[in-house]
Amino acid sequence: MSTQLTHPAVSCLEVSKSFADLEVLRAISLDVAQGEVVSILGPSGSGKSTLLRCMNRLEQPTRGLIRIHGDPMGYLEEAPGRFRELPERDVARQRRQIGMVFQRFNLFPHMSVLENIIEAPLRVLGSGKAEATEKALDLLARVGLSAKRDAYPEQLSGGQQQRVAIARALAMEPRVMLFDEPTSALDPELVGEVLDVISDVSRSGMTMVIVTHEISFARDVSDRVVFIDNGSIVEMGPPQQVIDHPQEERTRTFLSRVK
Ligand code: ADP
Ligand code: MG
Repeated sequence: MSTQLTHPAVSCLEVSKSFADLEVLRAISLDVAQGEVVSILGPSGSGKSTLLRCMNRLEQPTRGLIRIHGDPMGYLEEAPGRFRELPERDVARQRRQIGMVFQRFNLFPHMSVLENIIEAPLRVLGSGKAEATEKALDLLARVGLSAKRDAYPEQLSGGQQQRVAIARALAMEPRVMLFDEPTSALDPELVGEVLDVISDVSRSGMTMVIVTHEISFARDVSDRVVFIDNGSIVEMGPPQQVIDHPQEERTRTFLSRVK
């Protein structure tokens, strides 16, 4: 177990990804420590979503390796440096360690809030109904939606739906949470309540990677900020450096447009 603690929660080693002859990620190397909160900033089309999707193997890198807590995503390391590709069933099990929250909330429309949250724990983790319900109610309290347990998604605002989506991801007890522009689809007045919930999760010690255009939020919540352009890391470091004193012209140009 002690060696386990020394592994980064997420390790990307020279990860590249191409779609046909379009190279979207170019040799990205990035380690996220356990409990660390890393925000990824960058222009639209720079590869941010593709990088997150590689982390939980919704996409397979063309080159390079991603490890989650030391285990290579999609592979079994039979001996140091010797890998065997895993069947999809095993990849699905690996993927369960990683919660993901998307721009669109993707709740099940025909299920109540409570049913949305307990669905995967019941079916995938094999939790008992009483246990799953108790945990779901705790999570609903944490995202401030206890009163909505029996509501259906269409009866909720976008901000409330996204808070349920976060609770639903947490119910799987992931080791890492990925957020892909979690507030981009929301009306401006609903952004704050979702960012507050994400901040709260970050204070619980969860390892998080957050793609966001909310610069002041990224400054507040992140241990480190990564600026990506055209599939490469241009600059990374503490928010006081990358956001407040960017070294690179491309970072400065981007920040001046979104700030
Ligand atoms: P971002 O999230 O930074 O806006 P994306 O990772 O979504 O960027 O996309 C990066 C580039 O990869 C874009 O040019 C996009 O069109 C392309 N891309 C993303 N997914 C696919 C795909 N499945 N097939 C082909 N091209 C894709
Ligand atoms: Mg994206």
